[in-house]
Amino acid sequence: MALYSARKGFNVGLTVGGINLNRGFHIVAGPCSVESAEQMDAAAAVLADHGVRILRGGAFKPRTSPYSFQGLAERGLELLARTAHRHGMISVSEVMDTESVELVSSSVDILQVGARNMQNFSLLRRLGKQPKPVLLKRGMSSTIEEFLLAAEYVLQGNDKVILCERGVRSFETLTRNMLDLAGVALLRRMSHLPVVVDLSHSTGRPDIIPELARACVALGAEGIMFEVHHDPQSALSDGDQAMLLDAAAAMIDDLAPWIELRERLERSASPAAHPAV
Ligand code: PEP
Ligand code: MN
Repeated sequence: MALYSARKGFNVGLTVGGINLNRGFHIVAGPCSVESAEQMDAAAAVLADHGVRILRGGAFKPRTSPYSFQGLAERGLELLARTAHRHGMISVSEVMDTESVELVSSSVDILQVGARNMQNFSLLRRLGKQPKPVLLKRGMSSTIEEFLLAAEYVLQGNDKVILCERGVRSFETLTRNMLDLAGVALLRRMSHLPVVVDLSHSTGRPDIIPELARACVALGAEGIMFEVHHDPQSALSDGDQAMLLDAAAAMIDDLAPWIELRERLERSASPAAHPAV
């Protein structure tokens, strides 16, 4: 497969808001859905205080049931952008359809394509025609090859694509999805795009996120994403998988020495240790 994204010299550094996502280890965190100014502020204050620079929050929510909370739409985007700005962070939010690309693109720093839309080719093509980076989530039943080819649709017009592994459907019931860490290793060999691992939607449970976060650091992933809430029981979506703010803060602190170790090892490693496929 002649991947556009694997061409030599292509996309040497995806920089957004002064952050180079191809270098270092980045944390994307925030609530599943934007619910209120207070909720966003509570999350952002703790996250920013612990060095998190990318705030997430859904304003257009792809829900399995049409009777579930669908998001605050434009008002949600405003709350997210305002909160991120106030705390010196950049923002990421999902865009669900071609009609809202302009609105989302003018409101937030990074546009997320959800798992359910990974092969919405008209949306992907449209995102190639706007300038903001796109965080593309892997479809829940998609192969790595299909994932990379979906990224190609955006890359034909916009070289700023971030790949996000978020788990695939499996027979397991104790986790929400099956986190494919082999797929993450493969994605990093097959493309030059930053790879971020969504630990909330892949596991569906906050208790095992800290050890998986360490695995992502060791694996060489460019970052992780997870959901937080100041009061998960009152969350309007995905409360079961949200980390409490204290737990998130402790995890971020505990992760710091692992990230430092990786950076030290990377500085001393020879480039030949990581050949491209
Ligand atoms: C999300 O990140 O808000 C989300 C809905 O995730 P996914 O598309 O991976 O299910
Ligand atoms: Mn969610």
